[in-house]
Amino acid sequence: MRVRVDANKCQGHTLCHRVAPELFGLREEDGHSEVILSEVPKGLEEKARKAMLGCPEQAIAIEE
Ligand code: SF4
Repeated sequence: MRVRVDANKCQGHTLCHRVAPELFGLREEDGHSEVILSEVPKGLEEKARKAMLGCPEQAIAIEE
């Protein structure tokens, strides 16, 4: 599984970071999300899906 954040859509709500801090960091300059681990490790798939579904801007995409 791979995960990406569309920087043009992200508005920095930080929800993804709260759901899955192992996968999503927050940029110092604007608080927007950046992917830490684009290749989702085993055991974190559910968190990645939860973050994707919870993103209000639909900025997170997952490739299974
Ligand atoms: S939840 Fe979505 S809009 Fe909010 S920081 Fe994460 S990727 Fe960006």
